[in-house]
Amino acid sequence: MFNVIRRPVAPISLANRTSYSGKDVVKALREDFFDKCYICETKDPMSLNVEHFEAHEGSVDKKYQWENLFYACARCNNFKRHHYNDLLNCTSAGVDVLRLIRHAPPVTPWSTNVIIEAKADDAQTISTANLIFRVFNESDTGNKDVAVTYLRKRVYKRYAKFLAYINIYIDEDSIRQDKDLALEHLRNLMDKSQEYSAFLRWAVLESPELLELLGDAIN
Ligand SMILES: [Zn+2]
Repeated sequence: MFNVIRRPVAPISLANRTSYSGKDVVKALREDFFDKCYICETKDPMSLNVEHFEAHEGSVDKKYQWENLFYACARCNNFKRHHYNDLLNCTSAGVDVLRLIRHAPPVTPWSTNVIIEAKADDAQTISTANLIFRVFNESDTGNKDVAVTYLRKRVYKRYAKFLAYINIYIDEDSIRQDKDLALEHLRNLMDKSQEYSAFLRWAVLESPELLELLGDAIN
């Protein structure tokens, strides 16, 4: 998960209270959430949509409240639905969603197990870790294993790319320019605007050597 700085002024179409997913709302969410799902961090324009963080359950205020609108993919939205109504709020400045939930990437393209772990014992952190764990480990109903297998493979590819640049950096045969370029790529891959940044950032957080080298890129 990644922190989002939400624009303070609500898109104007929300004031009409006729649609919560007008073009201006979708555009604002896309920009503020770096065009990715706040739960799984996938960039998928085909399935990303407006989600109610707290189910509105008929409340007009909650339905059109800018602060209650999040950007999520259809698959995560389906896992969340009304079952998770007390999640960590990634748009709250005081909530460090990255460090509260440990993400460990799959170590092969076929790994069937992704570790998602709550690092605090409050209800919100536990609930959020549980949802993210399910997203990366559970099959969808009706869709068999295809979606979750594909998702894990995508995370693995990102992680493998990250390791490839680390290999260039540590290779004795690499020249200075190669190393500098590798560092630049590593920083770019772990930027919070990038896909699956939490997995890469946790690889850095858990290695003192990488933390010294790349810690400043955890924005
Ligand atoms: Zn998602």
